[in-house]
Amino acid sequence: MSRRDALAANLAAVHARIDDACAAAGRDPGAVQLVVVTKHFPASDVELLAGLGVTHVGENRHQEAMAKAAQVTAPVTWHFIGSLQSNKAAAVASYADVVESVDRAKLVAPLGRGRLARGLPEPLDCLVQVSLDPPSAGPGRAGADPDRVLELAALIAEADGLNVAGVMAVAPLDEDPRAAFARLAVVAERLRSEHPEARVLSAGMSGDLEAAIAHGATHVRVGRAVLGERELNG
Ligand SMILES: *Cc1c(COP(=O)(O)O)cnc(C)c1O
Repeated sequence: MSRRDALAANLAAVHARIDDACAAAGRDPGAVQLVVVTKHFPASDVELLAGLGVTHVGENRHQEAMAKAAQVTAPVTWHFIGSLQSNKAAAVASYADVVESVDRAKLVAPLGRGRLARGLPEPLDCLVQVSLDPPSAGPGRAGADPDRVLELAALIAEADGLNVAGVMAVAPLDEDPRAAFARLAVVAERLRSEHPEARVLSAGMSGDLEAAIAHGATHVRVGRAVLGERELNG
């Protein structure tokens, strides 16, 4: 089977899972956007995916994402979903269309600066990444504490060049994802009550997209189920 045929078959299977999950949740399948996570896979796969109708792709490492965004000519929307260093944030804003992993105040100014330097009329869509781990998980956990989300969202909303578009999270490995996504839905609702435009709820990956859709995900980030297993973790 050609790479294109393999990707097409995997994409069809993922769309079927999304449709089934939407049906089970009584939701419109058109309300869930698939973001295909292409990390560790080449720009040629992004081109094939675009030819198969994929419009949103996600990357988690700055160097790799920047190189791929420069190589790919198909008009796709680039989501940056990885952990972000403040000294790289302005550079990420120079090619990303959505930054899903804004988890601390220090990132706000460089993201805004990077976006303004790009000279686009619209602001950069930013999601607040929310930690669904208990605080005891320690400093390695990614994401803002749920109690700090409104504060961070306010900083984003006030920054020139940035728009607060919603929340993103990854379910903890050692918990039922349904319980974690139920907590995320509460955080998302609280954010929307202050920022009605912040409608994005990015949750769910290859292993747990059904649970995320049951709890209101508007975006699912799917890597392995479309592209196959990655050789390295991450
Ligand atoms: C890699 C990654 C995904 C995709 O995970 P899969 O299990 O390959 O579907 C989603 N979100 C984030 C933040 C990731 O780093």
